[in-house]
Amino acid sequence: MAIKTSEEYIQSLREMDIKVYMFGELVENPVDHPIIRPSLNSVAMTYDLANQEEYKDIMTTKSHLTGEPINRFCHIHQSTDDLMKKIKMQRLLGQKTASCFQRCVGMDAFNAIYSTTYEMDQEYGTDYFERFKKYLLYVQENDLTIDGAMTDPKGDRSLSPSQQEDADLYLRITEVREDGIVVKGAKAHQTGSVNSHEHLVMPTIALKDADKDYAVSFAIPSDAEGIFMIYGRQSCDTRKLEEGADIDLGNSTFGGQEALVIFDDVFIPNERVFMCKEAKYAGMMVERFAGYHRQSYACKVGVGDVLIGAAALAADYNGVPRASHIKDKLIEMTHLNETLWAGAVACSAEGSETASGNYLIDLLLANVSKQNVTRFPYQIARYAEDIAGGLMVTMPSEEDFRHPEVGKYVEKYLVGAKGTSTENRMRVLRLIENITLGSAAVGYLTESMHGAGSPQAQRIMISRQGNLDAKKEMARKIAKVDTSKDK
Ligand code: SF4
Ligand code: FE
Repeated sequence: MAIKTSEEYIQSLREMDIKVYMFGELVENPVDHPIIRPSLNSVAMTYDLANQEEYKDIMTTKSHLTGEPINRFCHIHQSTDDLMKKIKMQRLLGQKTASCFQRCVGMDAFNAIYSTTYEMDQEYGTDYFERFKKYLLYVQENDLTIDGAMTDPKGDRSLSPSQQEDADLYLRITEVREDGIVVKGAKAHQTGSVNSHEHLVMPTIALKDADKDYAVSFAIPSDAEGIFMIYGRQSCDTRKLEEGADIDLGNSTFGGQEALVIFDDVFIPNERVFMCKEAKYAGMMVERFAGYHRQSYACKVGVGDVLIGAAALAADYNGVPRASHIKDKLIEMTHLNETLWAGAVACSAEGSETASGNYLIDLLLANVSKQNVTRFPYQIARYAEDIAGGLMVTMPSEEDFRHPEVGKYVEKYLVGAKGTSTENRMRVLRLIENITLGSAAVGYLTESMHGAGSPQAQRIMISRQGNLDAKKEMARKIAKVDTSKDK
Protein backbone atom coordinates (compact mmCIF):
# COMPACT_ATOMS: atom_id res chain seq x y z
CA MET A 1 0.00 0.00 0.00
CA ALA A 2 2.79 2.42 -0.80
CA ILE A 3 0.46 4.74 -2.72
CA LYS A 4 -2.78 5.34 -0.89
CA THR A 5 -6.08 6.35 -2.45
CA SER A 6 -7.88 9.42 -1.16
CA GLU A 7 -10.49 7.15 0.43
CA GLU A 8 -7.76 5.30 2.33
CA TYR A 9 -6.24 8.60 3.41
CA ILE A 10 -9.58 9.91 4.72
CA GLN A 11 -10.31 6.62 6.47
CA SER A 12 -6.87 6.65 8.13
CA LEU A 13 -7.60 10.12 9.56
CA ARG A 14 -10.96 8.91 10.85
CA GLU A 15 -9.12 6.28 12.84
CA MET A 16 -7.05 8.93 14.62
CA ASP A 17 -8.05 10.88 17.67
CA ILE A 18 -6.84 14.36 16.73
CA LYS A 19 -7.89 16.96 19.27
CA VAL A 20 -8.85 20.25 17.72
CA TYR A 21 -10.76 23.16 19.23
CA MET A 22 -12.82 25.56 17.16
CA PHE A 23 -15.05 28.40 18.37
CA GLY A 24 -14.33 27.35 21.96
CA GLU A 25 -15.35 23.74 21.55
CA LEU A 26 -13.59 20.45 20.99
CA VAL A 27 -14.52 19.30 17.48
CA GLU A 28 -16.09 15.89 17.68
CA ASN A 29 -15.49 14.75 14.13
CA PRO A 30 -12.86 16.90 12.35
CA VAL A 31 -13.02 14.85 9.13
CA ASP A 32 -16.65 15.75 8.42
CA HIS A 33 -16.73 19.22 9.96
CA PRO A 34 -18.04 21.62 7.26
CA ILE A 35 -15.33 24.21 7.97
CA ILE A 36 -12.49 21.67 8.01
CA ARG A 37 -13.64 19.31 5.26
CA PRO A 38 -12.72 21.50 2.25
CA SER A 39 -9.14 21.67 3.54
CA LEU A 40 -9.06 17.90 3.91
CA ASN A 41 -10.36 17.60 0.34
CA SER A 42 -7.35 19.62 -0.84
CA VAL A 43 -4.94 17.17 0.80
CA ALA A 44 -7.00 14.26 -0.55
CA MET A 45 -6.32 15.61 -4.04
CA THR A 46 -2.60 14.86 -3.51
CA TYR A 47 -3.64 11.19 -3.20
CA ASP A 48 -6.22 11.27 -5.99
CA LEU A 49 -3.89 12.65 -8.64
CA ALA A 50 -1.18 10.13 -7.70
CA ASN A 51 -3.59 7.40 -8.70
CA GLN A 52 -4.37 8.88 -12.10
CA GLU A 53 -2.35 7.56 -15.02
CA GLU A 54 -2.19 11.01 -16.62
CA TYR A 55 -0.30 12.50 -13.65
CA LYS A 56 1.76 9.50 -12.60
CA ASP A 57 5.07 10.91 -13.79
CA ILE A 58 4.62 14.14 -11.83
CA MET A 59 2.82 12.82 -8.75
CA THR A 60 4.73 9.62 -8.08
CA THR A 61 8.29 8.39 -8.17
CA LYS A 62 10.46 5.58 -6.83
CA SER A 63 11.75 5.57 -3.28
CA HIS A 64 15.53 5.95 -3.26
CA LEU A 65 15.49 3.72 -0.17
CA THR A 66 13.51 0.76 -1.51
CA GLY A 67 12.93 1.33 -5.24
CA GLU A 68 9.18 1.02 -4.56
CA PRO A 69 6.68 3.47 -6.07
CA ILE A 70 5.77 6.30 -3.69
CA ASN A 71 3.83 9.54 -3.72
CA ARG A 72 6.22 12.38 -4.61
CA PHE A 73 5.21 14.18 -1.42
CA CYS A 74 7.17 11.49 0.49
CA HIS A 75 10.25 11.74 -1.72
CA ILE A 76 13.85 12.76 -1.11
CA HIS A 77 14.88 14.69 -4.23
CA GLN A 78 17.57 12.83 -6.13
CA SER A 79 18.23 15.26 -9.00
CA THR A 80 17.33 18.66 -10.42
CA ASP A 81 14.74 16.79 -12.48
CA ASP A 82 13.08 15.78 -9.18
CA LEU A 83 13.16 19.42 -8.06
CA MET A 84 11.47 20.44 -11.32
CA LYS A 85 8.82 17.74 -11.01
CA LYS A 86 8.14 18.87 -7.47
CA ILE A 87 7.17 22.38 -8.58
CA LYS A 88 5.18 21.04 -11.53
CA MET A 89 3.23 18.93 -9.06
CA GLN A 90 2.60 22.00 -6.91
CA ARG A 91 1.42 24.16 -9.81
CA LEU A 92 -0.88 21.34 -10.91
CA LEU A 93 -2.39 21.00 -7.44
CA GLY A 94 -2.84 24.77 -7.19
CA GLN A 95 -4.79 24.61 -10.44
CA LYS A 96 -6.93 21.69 -9.22
CA THR A 97 -7.77 23.08 -5.76
CA ALA A 98 -7.31 26.89 -6.00
CA SER A 99 -6.12 26.70 -2.42
CA CYS A 100 -3.32 25.49 -0.17
CA PHE A 101 -3.12 21.69 -0.32
CA GLN A 102 -0.89 21.61 2.77
CA ARG A 103 1.20 18.54 2.16
CA CYS A 104 4.35 20.36 0.96
CA VAL A 105 5.55 21.34 4.42
CA GLY A 106 6.18 17.70 5.27
CA MET A 107 8.04 17.05 2.02
CA ASP A 108 10.19 20.12 2.58
CA ALA A 109 10.93 19.06 6.16
CA PHE A 110 11.99 15.56 4.99
CA ASN A 111 14.52 17.01 2.61
CA ALA A 112 15.91 19.59 5.04
CA ILE A 113 16.22 17.12 7.92
CA TYR A 114 17.69 14.43 5.67
CA SER A 115 20.70 16.50 4.61
CA THR A 116 21.15 18.29 7.95
CA THR A 117 21.18 15.12 10.07
CA TYR A 118 23.75 13.63 7.70
CA GLU A 119 26.09 16.57 8.23
CA MET A 120 25.44 16.64 11.97
CA ASP A 121 26.40 12.98 12.27
CA GLN A 122 29.62 13.68 10.38
CA GLU A 123 30.64 16.19 13.02
CA TYR A 124 29.30 14.58 16.20
CA GLY A 125 29.27 10.85 15.40
CA THR A 126 25.55 10.75 16.25
CA ASP A 127 23.08 8.45 14.45
CA TYR A 128 20.32 10.89 13.58
CA PHE A 129 20.58 10.21 9.84
CA GLU A 130 19.91 6.47 10.25
CA ARG A 131 17.02 7.21 12.63
CA PHE A 132 15.58 9.64 10.16
CA LYS A 133 15.89 7.21 7.25
CA LYS A 134 13.96 4.59 9.25
CA TYR A 135 11.28 7.13 9.99
CA LEU A 136 11.12 8.13 6.32
CA LEU A 137 10.70 4.51 5.32
CA TYR A 138 7.69 4.28 7.63
CA VAL A 139 6.25 7.47 6.09
CA GLN A 140 6.78 6.22 2.54
CA GLU A 141 5.38 2.76 3.21
CA ASN A 142 2.23 4.22 4.75
CA ASP A 143 1.96 7.21 2.36
CA LEU A 144 1.50 9.57 5.29
CA THR A 145 0.75 13.28 5.29
CA ILE A 146 3.22 14.96 7.59
CA ASP A 147 3.01 18.48 8.92
CA GLY A 148 6.46 20.06 8.81
CA ALA A 149 6.29 22.31 11.87
CA MET A 150 8.76 25.17 12.14
CA THR A 151 7.21 28.44 13.31
CA ASP A 152 7.30 29.13 17.05
CA PRO A 153 5.04 31.82 18.55
CA LYS A 154 8.23 33.87 19.29
CA GLY A 155 6.86 36.37 21.86
CA ASP A 156 9.10 39.43 22.04
CA ARG A 157 10.97 39.36 18.73
CA SER A 158 13.87 41.37 20.17
CA LEU A 159 14.69 38.59 22.65
CA SER A 160 16.27 35.20 22.07
CA PRO A 161 14.31 32.06 23.08
CA SER A 162 15.98 31.74 26.49
CA GLN A 163 15.55 35.48 27.21
CA GLN A 164 11.77 35.37 26.88
CA GLU A 165 9.77 35.98 30.03
CA ASP A 166 7.82 32.81 29.26
CA ALA A 167 10.31 30.08 28.37
CA ASP A 168 7.68 28.20 26.34
CA LEU A 169 7.31 30.82 23.62
CA TYR A 170 9.75 28.75 21.62
CA LEU A 171 9.28 24.99 21.67
CA ARG A 172 11.93 23.42 23.88
CA ILE A 173 13.27 20.30 25.51
CA THR A 174 12.26 20.24 29.18
CA GLU A 175 13.71 16.86 30.06
CA VAL A 176 16.14 14.36 28.62
CA ARG A 177 15.45 10.78 29.70
CA GLU A 178 17.24 7.59 28.84
CA ASP A 179 14.53 6.53 26.42
CA GLY A 180 13.61 9.90 24.95
CA ILE A 181 12.89 13.57 25.55
CA VAL A 182 10.01 15.67 26.83
CA VAL A 183 9.09 18.84 24.93
CA LYS A 184 6.89 21.81 25.68
CA GLY A 185 5.76 24.79 23.62
CA ALA A 186 3.71 25.48 20.53
CA LYS A 187 3.96 25.81 16.78
CA ALA A 188 1.91 28.59 15.22
CA HIS A 189 0.22 28.95 11.81
CA GLN A 190 0.57 25.22 11.20
CA THR A 191 -0.63 24.53 7.69
CA GLY A 192 -2.51 21.26 7.39
CA SER A 193 -1.97 20.21 11.00
CA VAL A 194 -5.51 18.90 11.47
CA ASN A 195 -5.24 16.88 8.25
CA SER A 196 -1.81 15.39 8.97
CA HIS A 197 -1.01 12.00 10.45
CA GLU A 198 2.12 13.29 12.14
CA HIS A 199 4.05 16.43 12.98
CA LEU A 200 7.70 16.76 12.09
CA VAL A 201 9.11 19.51 14.26
CA MET A 202 12.16 21.70 13.57
CA PRO A 203 13.65 24.76 15.29
CA THR A 204 12.46 28.11 14.01
CA ILE A 205 15.70 30.16 14.00
CA ALA A 206 19.46 29.77 14.08
CA LEU A 207 20.46 29.24 17.72
CA LYS A 208 23.45 29.90 19.95
CA ASP A 209 24.60 27.50 22.66
CA ALA A 210 22.73 29.47 25.34
CA ASP A 211 19.55 28.44 23.54
CA LYS A 212 20.45 24.80 23.02
CA ASP A 213 17.31 23.51 24.76
CA TYR A 214 15.44 24.92 21.79
CA ALA A 215 17.54 23.04 19.24
CA VAL A 216 15.19 20.13 18.73
CA SER A 217 13.76 18.14 15.85
CA PHE A 218 11.44 15.15 16.16
CA ALA A 219 8.41 13.37 14.72
CA ILE A 220 5.24 12.59 16.63
CA PRO A 221 1.74 11.35 15.69
CA SER A 222 -0.77 14.22 15.62
CA ASP A 223 -2.95 12.51 18.22
CA ALA A 224 -0.15 11.75 20.69
CA GLU A 225 -0.70 12.42 24.39
CA GLY A 226 -0.24 16.10 25.19
CA ILE A 227 -0.83 17.49 21.67
CA PHE A 228 -3.87 19.54 20.75
CA MET A 229 -4.75 22.19 18.18
CA ILE A 230 -6.71 25.42 18.15
CA TYR A 231 -8.17 26.08 14.71
CA GLY A 232 -7.30 29.27 12.83
CA ARG A 233 -10.25 31.39 11.70
CA GLN A 234 -10.45 32.52 8.12
CA SER A 235 -12.35 35.35 6.56
CA CYS A 236 -15.89 34.21 5.60
CA ASP A 237 -15.36 30.83 7.30
CA THR A 238 -18.87 30.59 8.75
CA ARG A 239 -20.37 30.77 5.27
CA LYS A 240 -19.40 27.10 5.15
CA LEU A 241 -21.83 26.43 8.00
CA GLU A 242 -24.80 27.82 6.06
CA GLU A 243 -27.33 25.23 5.01
CA GLY A 244 -26.78 24.24 1.37
CA ALA A 245 -24.12 26.91 0.80
CA ASP A 246 -22.67 26.61 -2.69
CA ILE A 247 -22.47 29.75 -4.86
CA ASP A 248 -21.59 32.00 -1.92
CA LEU A 249 -18.52 29.92 -1.11
CA GLY A 250 -16.87 30.58 -4.46
CA ASN A 251 -15.00 27.32 -4.00
CA SER A 252 -17.27 24.90 -2.17
CA THR A 253 -14.99 21.87 -2.44
CA PHE A 254 -11.49 22.98 -1.49
CA GLY A 255 -9.72 25.18 1.06
CA GLY A 256 -6.66 25.56 3.25
CA GLN A 257 -6.19 25.20 6.98
CA GLU A 258 -3.95 26.53 9.74
CA ALA A 259 -3.90 25.95 13.49
CA LEU A 260 -1.99 26.73 16.64
CA VAL A 261 -0.55 23.40 17.78
CA ILE A 262 0.18 23.00 21.49
CA PHE A 263 2.76 20.54 22.80
CA ASP A 264 2.03 20.18 26.49
CA ASP A 265 4.84 18.04 27.94
CA VAL A 266 4.95 15.57 25.09
CA PHE A 267 7.24 12.54 25.33
CA ILE A 268 9.26 11.72 22.21
CA PRO A 269 11.01 8.33 22.08
CA ASN A 270 14.68 8.43 21.05
CA GLU A 271 14.14 6.78 17.67
CA ARG A 272 11.99 9.76 16.65
CA VAL A 273 14.42 12.46 17.80
CA PHE A 274 16.52 13.98 14.99
CA MET A 275 18.21 16.85 16.83
CA CYS A 276 18.73 17.18 20.56
CA LYS A 277 20.54 20.37 21.64
CA GLU A 278 22.96 20.56 18.66
CA ALA A 279 22.40 24.33 18.47
CA LYS A 280 25.01 24.81 15.76
CA TYR A 281 22.89 22.90 13.24
CA ALA A 282 19.56 24.62 13.95
CA GLY A 283 20.45 27.37 11.44
CA MET A 284 21.25 24.88 8.69
CA MET A 285 17.97 23.02 9.18
CA VAL A 286 15.99 26.27 9.20
CA GLU A 287 17.75 27.68 6.15
CA ARG A 288 17.25 24.53 4.12
CA PHE A 289 13.63 24.04 5.09
CA ALA A 290 12.90 27.70 4.35
CA GLY A 291 14.69 27.41 1.01
CA TYR A 292 12.68 24.35 -0.03
CA HIS A 293 9.45 25.93 1.11
CA ARG A 294 10.22 29.15 -0.75
CA GLN A 295 10.64 27.05 -3.88
CA SER A 296 7.33 25.36 -3.01
CA TYR A 297 5.46 28.61 -3.49
CA ALA A 298 5.09 27.48 -7.10
CA CYS A 299 1.72 26.44 -5.67
CA LYS A 300 0.66 30.10 -5.90
CA VAL A 301 1.30 30.04 -9.64
CA GLY A 302 -1.34 27.32 -9.95
CA VAL A 303 -3.83 29.35 -7.90
CA GLY A 304 -2.87 32.37 -10.03
CA ASP A 305 -3.77 30.37 -13.15
CA VAL A 306 -7.27 29.84 -11.74
CA LEU A 307 -7.60 33.51 -10.76
CA ILE A 308 -6.52 34.72 -14.20
CA GLY A 309 -9.04 32.31 -15.73
CA ALA A 310 -11.76 33.63 -13.41
CA ALA A 311 -10.93 37.25 -14.30
CA ALA A 312 -11.11 36.41 -18.01
CA LEU A 313 -14.47 34.70 -17.46
CA ALA A 314 -15.76 37.71 -15.51
CA ALA A 315 -14.81 39.88 -18.49
CA ASP A 316 -16.75 37.50 -20.75
CA TYR A 317 -19.84 37.69 -18.51
CA ASN A 318 -19.51 41.45 -18.33
CA GLY A 319 -19.47 41.55 -22.13
CA VAL A 320 -16.06 43.20 -22.41
CA PRO A 321 -13.61 40.45 -23.43
CA ARG A 322 -12.43 42.47 -26.40
CA ALA A 323 -11.84 45.77 -24.59
CA SER A 324 -8.16 46.58 -25.08
CA HIS A 325 -7.54 47.53 -21.42
CA ILE A 326 -9.03 44.21 -20.27
CA LYS A 327 -6.80 42.28 -22.66
CA ASP A 328 -3.83 44.25 -21.44
CA LYS A 329 -4.62 43.57 -17.79
CA LEU A 330 -4.91 39.85 -18.48
CA ILE A 331 -1.54 39.98 -20.21
CA GLU A 332 -0.03 41.74 -17.21
CA MET A 333 -1.51 39.16 -14.83
CA THR A 334 -0.05 36.38 -16.95
CA HIS A 335 3.31 38.12 -17.10
CA LEU A 336 3.43 38.41 -13.30
CA ASN A 337 2.31 34.84 -12.76
CA GLU A 338 4.82 33.40 -15.21
CA THR A 339 7.56 35.52 -13.66
CA LEU A 340 6.80 33.70 -10.40
CA TRP A 341 7.03 30.45 -12.29
CA ALA A 342 10.35 31.46 -13.81
CA GLY A 343 11.77 31.93 -10.29
CA ALA A 344 10.59 28.51 -9.17
CA VAL A 345 12.03 26.90 -12.31
CA ALA A 346 15.33 28.74 -11.92
CA CYS A 347 15.99 27.74 -8.29
CA SER A 348 15.07 24.13 -9.14
CA ALA A 349 17.18 23.88 -12.31
CA GLU A 350 20.15 25.38 -10.45
CA GLY A 351 19.85 22.94 -7.55
CA SER A 352 22.85 20.95 -6.41
CA GLU A 353 23.73 17.80 -4.51
CA THR A 354 24.26 17.92 -0.74
CA ALA A 355 26.74 15.76 1.18
CA SER A 356 23.89 13.35 2.00
CA GLY A 357 23.14 12.87 -1.72
CA ASN A 358 19.81 14.65 -1.94
CA TYR A 359 19.28 17.80 -3.98
CA LEU A 360 18.96 21.29 -2.59
CA ILE A 361 17.55 24.22 -4.53
CA ASP A 362 19.70 27.24 -5.30
CA LEU A 363 19.11 29.20 -2.09
CA LEU A 364 19.64 32.67 -3.52
CA LEU A 365 17.21 32.08 -6.37
CA ALA A 366 14.65 30.43 -4.04
CA ASN A 367 14.73 33.53 -1.85
CA VAL A 368 14.46 35.89 -4.81
CA SER A 369 11.55 33.80 -6.08
CA LYS A 370 9.71 33.93 -2.75
CA GLN A 371 10.33 37.67 -2.47
CA ASN A 372 8.41 38.06 -5.74
CA VAL A 373 5.66 35.88 -4.26
CA THR A 374 5.24 38.43 -1.44
CA ARG A 375 4.32 41.00 -4.10
CA PHE A 376 2.94 39.68 -7.37
CA PRO A 377 -0.15 37.80 -6.13
CA TYR A 378 -1.33 41.12 -4.61
CA GLN A 379 -0.92 42.78 -7.99
CA ILE A 380 -2.65 39.91 -9.77
CA ALA A 381 -5.49 40.08 -7.22
CA ARG A 382 -5.80 43.84 -7.82
CA TYR A 383 -6.22 43.30 -11.54
CA ALA A 384 -8.74 40.50 -10.93
CA GLU A 385 -10.82 42.81 -8.72
CA ASP A 386 -10.52 45.59 -11.27
CA ILE A 387 -11.81 43.34 -14.05
CA ALA A 388 -14.50 41.70 -11.89
CA GLY A 389 -16.17 45.00 -10.95
CA GLY A 390 -17.77 46.07 -7.67
CA LEU A 391 -20.55 43.52 -7.94
CA MET A 392 -18.07 41.00 -6.56
CA VAL A 393 -18.58 42.54 -3.11
CA THR A 394 -22.11 43.95 -3.32
CA MET A 395 -23.90 40.95 -4.79
CA PRO A 396 -26.91 39.50 -2.92
CA SER A 397 -26.65 36.04 -1.41
CA GLU A 398 -27.44 32.72 -3.00
CA GLU A 399 -30.53 32.51 -0.80
CA ASP A 400 -31.86 35.71 -2.32
CA PHE A 401 -31.07 34.38 -5.77
CA ARG A 402 -33.08 31.23 -5.01
CA HIS A 403 -35.90 33.10 -3.22
CA PRO A 404 -39.40 32.56 -4.71
CA GLU A 405 -40.17 36.30 -4.76
CA VAL A 406 -36.97 38.33 -4.99
CA GLY A 407 -34.98 35.69 -6.87
CA LYS A 408 -36.35 36.77 -10.23
CA TYR A 409 -35.14 40.33 -9.62
CA VAL A 410 -31.63 39.12 -8.80
CA GLU A 411 -31.71 37.03 -11.96
CA LYS A 412 -33.01 39.95 -14.06
CA TYR A 413 -30.79 42.75 -12.79
CA LEU A 414 -27.53 40.88 -12.33
CA VAL A 415 -27.50 39.47 -15.82
CA GLY A 416 -24.41 40.25 -17.91
CA ALA A 417 -23.53 39.68 -21.56
CA LYS A 418 -26.33 38.68 -23.91
CA GLY A 419 -27.21 35.02 -23.65
CA THR A 420 -25.21 34.31 -20.49
CA SER A 421 -26.43 32.92 -17.18
CA THR A 422 -26.74 35.15 -14.11
CA GLU A 423 -25.95 32.21 -11.88
CA ASN A 424 -22.69 31.48 -13.69
CA ARG A 425 -21.72 35.13 -13.46
CA MET A 426 -22.35 35.01 -9.71
CA ARG A 427 -20.30 31.84 -9.37
CA VAL A 428 -17.29 33.35 -11.13
CA LEU A 429 -17.46 36.57 -9.10
CA ARG A 430 -17.70 34.59 -5.85
CA LEU A 431 -14.64 32.58 -6.87
CA ILE A 432 -12.68 35.82 -7.33
CA GLU A 433 -14.00 37.03 -3.97
CA ASN A 434 -12.95 33.73 -2.37
CA ILE A 435 -9.36 33.99 -3.64
CA THR A 436 -8.84 37.71 -3.08
CA LEU A 437 -10.94 38.43 0.04
CA GLY A 438 -12.46 35.20 1.33
CA SER A 439 -11.07 32.09 2.97
CA ALA A 440 -8.70 31.28 0.10
CA ALA A 441 -7.12 34.74 0.41
CA VAL A 442 -5.37 33.33 3.47
CA GLY A 443 -3.48 31.06 1.11
CA TYR A 444 -3.20 33.27 -1.95
CA LEU A 445 -2.36 36.60 -0.32
CA THR A 446 -1.36 36.68 3.35
CA GLU A 447 0.35 33.33 3.15
CA SER A 448 2.23 34.58 0.08
CA MET A 449 3.43 37.43 2.28
CA HIS A 450 4.31 35.53 5.45
CA GLY A 451 4.36 31.81 4.66
CA ALA A 452 7.86 30.29 4.35
CA GLY A 453 9.12 33.48 5.99
CA SER A 454 8.10 37.13 5.79
CA PRO A 455 9.68 39.42 3.14
CA GLN A 456 12.46 40.55 5.47
CA ALA A 457 13.56 36.95 6.05
CA GLN A 458 14.20 36.60 2.33
CA ARG A 459 16.04 39.90 2.18
CA ILE A 460 18.41 38.73 4.90
CA MET A 461 19.11 35.57 2.90
CA ILE A 462 19.49 37.54 -0.33
CA SER A 463 22.05 39.78 1.34
CA ARG A 464 23.87 36.74 2.74
CA GLN A 465 23.88 34.85 -0.54
CA GLY A 466 24.34 37.81 -2.88
CA ASN A 467 28.16 37.72 -2.68
CA LEU A 468 28.70 41.45 -2.82
CA ASP A 469 32.47 41.07 -2.38
CA ALA A 470 32.78 39.09 -5.60
CA LYS A 471 30.71 41.71 -7.40
CA LYS A 472 32.93 44.51 -6.06
CA GLU A 473 35.95 42.64 -7.35
CA MET A 474 34.39 42.42 -10.81
CA ALA A 475 33.80 46.18 -10.78
CA ARG A 476 37.37 46.85 -9.58
CA LYS A 477 38.80 44.82 -12.42
CA ILE A 478 36.74 46.55 -15.12
CA ALA A 479 37.42 50.01 -13.67
CA LYS A 480 41.13 49.14 -13.20
CA VAL A 481 40.96 50.10 -9.53
CA ASP A 482 44.36 49.94 -7.82
CA THR A 483 43.49 49.24 -4.20
CA SER A 484 47.01 50.18 -3.05
CA LYS A 485 46.09 53.80 -3.80
CA ASP A 486 43.16 53.66 -1.35
CA LYS A 487 43.98 54.90 2.10
FE1 SF4 B 1 2.07 23.76 -0.21
FE2 SF4 B 1 1.74 26.22 -1.02
FE3 SF4 B 1 0.31 25.33 1.03
FE4 SF4 B 1 2.90 25.77 1.37
S1 SF4 B 1 1.35 27.30 0.88
S2 SF4 B 1 1.78 23.94 1.99
S3 SF4 B 1 3.71 25.26 -0.65
S4 SF4 B 1 0.22 24.59 -1.08
FE1 FE C 1 2.84 27.76 3.41
